[in-house]
Amino acid sequence: MKKVLSIIGTRPEAIKMAPVIRELERRSGEIASVTCLTGQHTSLLSGMLENFNLTPHYSLSLDSECQTLPKIFSNLVLKLNEVIELEKPDWLVAQGDTTSVVAGAIAAYYNKIKFGHIEAGLRTYDLYSPYPEEGNRLMADVCAEKLWAPTQLAKENLLKEGYSESRIHMTGNTVIDALIYTSERVKTPAELKSFEGQKIILVTIHRRESFGENLLEICAALKELAALYPDIDFVYPVHPNPNVYDVVHKKLSGYTNIHLLPPLGYTDFIWMMKNCFLVLTDSGGVQEEAPSLRVPVLVLRDKTERPEGVEAGVALLAGRKKDDIVRHVSTLLNDEVVYKKMASGINPYGDGRAAVRIVEDIIRAE
Ligand code: UDP
Repeated sequence: MKKVLSIIGTRPEAIKMAPVIRELERRSGEIASVTCLTGQHTSLLSGMLENFNLTPHYSLSLDSECQTLPKIFSNLVLKLNEVIELEKPDWLVAQGDTTSVVAGAIAAYYNKIKFGHIEAGLRTYDLYSPYPEEGNRLMADVCAEKLWAPTQLAKENLLKEGYSESRIHMTGNTVIDALIYTSERVKTPAELKSFEGQKIILVTIHRRESFGENLLEICAALKELAALYPDIDFVYPVHPNPNVYDVVHKKLSGYTNIHLLPPLGYTDFIWMMKNCFLVLTDSGGVQEEAPSLRVPVLVLRDKTERPEGVEAGVALLAGRKKDDIVRHVSTLLNDEVVYKKMASGINPYGDGRAAVRIVEDIIRAE
């Protein structure tokens, strides 16, 4: 029987890998499944897999001096190599564009085992925006035996780059599988009850390219919006990265309608997203989830590797300048026609069956 080693490094990887691991476990008569947490995120991962009733077999911890990308990368390759030597899997499967994914891809390649890349083919074609994600996904795709593209556009990117069609399968994004599974189960969490019935603007910012001046602009925009619209609750679960946490708490604490929360568990976050009026985010996953819940998204970035939402009119690239953000939010608050158009419910990212297609591919492969 073939064995698949699934690796998970960060919060979005846990969410997007969970449907695949659940499907692998459902088909345990045909395929063996081993799951390994790489240790790249620890605090943000707690509780994520429990949401999906999953328990990892391995939980690696990065050496404490691993604070730079080269150190994280080399430590991960060595530790994943040990797991590969112990488990001798036929496939290593990873999702996305983090250092864990590229380390997994290289470790698999050096061991001559098949690497399967979930969410292959996303591109901005700017190696430094987002950094290092654009480079990571290019490197991961090169190593992949199977490229699971989430959308037609991602597939076309891969074809343009010369990947043969036989290696590519357009599956949809597993984030939609996870969202459907979770939103069917979500109930109002006790600790978020006070937000029930409120008009909420949900904010998440965590990307490296938002750090520094950009984050200061975003904070200034939120401050101005909170003053302009005192009846709206701005809910911001703040990422623990000190580049974000310290700045946001310094700039936005003490305003009655700005609520700085710790990162929410996935089900709580989905509840919040389902119940909010608008999302402001630089996150990849959130851009994909919100349209399914009929919530418009303002993407606070200059470029996105997920233009499908923008093209479908359910997301808008708002940039990171204070005045632009305030203007776009004000339009959505004041112009019902524009708002309704954006809250149309078109979801270009998948039909909830991506994991089934991916696992079927692995089982059928030579
Ligand atoms: N998310 C969460 N709690 C939060 C914020 C986000 O569970 O407080 C989830 C969200 O639903 C999405 C994922 O985390 O599926 C996105 O992760 P993140 O924004 O960290 O990474 P990206 O998608 O940009 O790689």
